Amino acid sequence: MRGRAPHGWRALPVAVIIACTVNTGCAAATPGGPGPSPTVPPSPSGTPSAVVPSNGTTAPSDGARRAGLIDVTTFLPDAVIDLRYATADNFVGVRLYPAGAKCLVHESMRVGLTTAAAILRERGERIVFWDCYRPHSVQVTMFEKVPNPAWVAAPGAYSRSHETGRSVDVTLTSGHGLVDMGTDFDAFTPQAAAHATSGVTAAQQANRARLRAAMAAGGLSAYAGEWWHFDGPGAGVQRAIVDVPVN
Ligand SMILES: [Zn+2]
Repeated sequence: MRGRAPHGWRALPVAVIIACTVNTGCAAATPGGPGPSPTVPPSPSGTPSAVVPSNGTTAPSDGARRAGLIDVTTFLPDAVIDLRYATADNFVGVRLYPAGAKCLVHESMRVGLTTAAAILRERGERIVFWDCYRPHSVQVTMFEKVPNPAWVAAPGAYSRSHETGRSVDVTLTSGHGLVDMGTDFDAFTPQAAAHATSGVTAAQQANRARLRAAMAAGGLSAYAGEWWHFDGPGAGVQRAIVDVPVN
């Protein structure tokens, strides 16, 4: 999640500092649309991902609609939504999203994500969304909970990246469970760097590269600091603060 800080900087435990943009997480897989959400298997790192129950609708709030946000599952019915900030299983340690939180993205992400998912689907893989649109108020809460600008970017006067629904934090799942990428979401270790080689096996590097290639085909750029973070068109542009319901 490159995104606890909307384009801030975050320090790794080992004193490695990487640039961060706004990030958000996602939740619960919903292949096939409405209906029971499948259980997300434990991540390779051993951390189980909690499944967030859907409120049964993909209709965003009026505010979200006005902000151009759409529910990912409306165009990627087989996407796995596992919003980590909708659970306490995140770096802050508390639940930050309300019940029924959705993976919302700006409509400009639709074509790119559709392209990426199609490529991955041919290999029997689906995209797991850990974070999507992140309300500005959540960014503020993150900073209140972890008031360290080295870890959480102080909320700014503008929104960008996750705060505008133009960045996503994702991984992959196959018929065998989550694809092994080497680290869990929000791992503050050198191994989290997208192109890390030390401590990351050749297979894990290949898995990351396959995700990057698919996303790149859809025009989504990888963030070097975090293998799971991808930016869509205009993600870096500072825009008026967006703070609409995520559920
Ligand atoms: Zn992110």
